[in-house]
Amino acid sequence: MIDDLYDCIVIGAGPAGLSASLFLARYLRRTLTFHHNSPRNEYAHGVHGFLGHHGIRPGELLTRGRDEVTSHGGLIIEACVTAVEAVSPEHFRVFAGDEGAEQKVFDARRLVLATGLRDLTPDCPGFREFYGSSVHHCPDCDGYEVKNKRVAVLAHGKNAAGFTANLLTWTGQLTLLTDQGEIAKDEGAKLAALDVAIRTERVVGLEGDKSTRQLQRVLFAEGEPLECDALFFNLGTKLATDFHEELGCRLDPECDLLWVDETQQTSIKGVYAAGDITPNSQLAVVAAAEGAMAAIHIHRSLIPAERQI
Ligand SMILES: Cc1cc2nc3c(=O)[nH]c(=O)nc-3n(C[C@H](O)[C@H](O)[C@H](O)COP(=O)(O)OP(=O)(O)OC[C@H]3O[C@@H](n4cnc5c(N)ncnc54)[C@H](O)[C@@H]3O)c2cc1C
Repeated sequence: MIDDLYDCIVIGAGPAGLSASLFLARYLRRTLTFHHNSPRNEYAHGVHGFLGHHGIRPGELLTRGRDEVTSHGGLIIEACVTAVEAVSPEHFRVFAGDEGAEQKVFDARRLVLATGLRDLTPDCPGFREFYGSSVHHCPDCDGYEVKNKRVAVLAHGKNAAGFTANLLTWTGQLTLLTDQGEIAKDEGAKLAALDVAIRTERVVGLEGDKSTRQLQRVLFAEGEPLECDALFFNLGTKLATDFHEELGCRLDPECDLLWVDETQQTSIKGVYAAGDITPNSQLAVVAAAEGAMAAIHIHRSLIPAERQI
């Protein structure tokens, strides 16, 4: 038995990882959490819909979370995890360190993967200036903020029509921009029947007031600019890391995210996953709840048999 075996290593310190770490620390479990400070919502101006913290700046939520973890005795290290390995069913190894530097090795009885997703974002000038303020990707997070406004939707392919129609919850002034991509004919007809305009020209830029981060118009390779108050995009996401592959965790075939059971355990015993990398809704409050669930079940799994009465 290795002396400095942690009860659990949590990889990722967004809402999911920190929530798992907080609960594990409160169960007096020896827990080590890694983060390298690139949460998914770093561009957002505020976290919407997190009860009791609605509108809090993402950085502030995470700073508070880290303080809560460390004040309960949890250990957080700012370092990039570069690889993981299952040494045996009760022993996982994590390698961490900056690129080019010597890798340090850490061992634990359980692992939580909470490394989040990366959004595929539009490749057009102006995008970064407005992303998180008047350019969004998540209707659940920011739909309310565009109530009755003029909204452009940048999307194509099989999810484009559904994604656009969902925004009718908040506004009837919608224009779908396919950016030369495809959309099925029958879906285009359904959107037209719902008074959604469709433009197919190539999008070449976003313009607006950079000081307030307010988008005002979308520019096209041909044709008139589209005046609008906000833009939503849906171009897909990808997992931030491939640790699941190194460990052999299976993906949910419906969405290509990590399959988990009702205890947040992946298909590999002892490896749990929480947050955006699992198939549930991608919201900060859901990520935090999944982290807490993972911690509760990890704690239970570590209770020795003689105490399980
Ligand atoms: C622009 C934007 C706005 C949003 N607005 C809202 C909103 O208003 N309301 C809401 O509920 N949700 C919102 N979301 C969604 C929300 O941010 C996510 O659901 C939430 O952050 C998921 O938490 P997570 O812990 O799973 O992942 P993340 O928050 O992405 O955290 C992942 C963590 O893993 C760490 N990590 C990754 N790889 C490594 C590695 N190799 N080594 C060490 N650490 C690593 C990262 O540093 C990061 O800290 C928004 C997202 C975006 C992009």
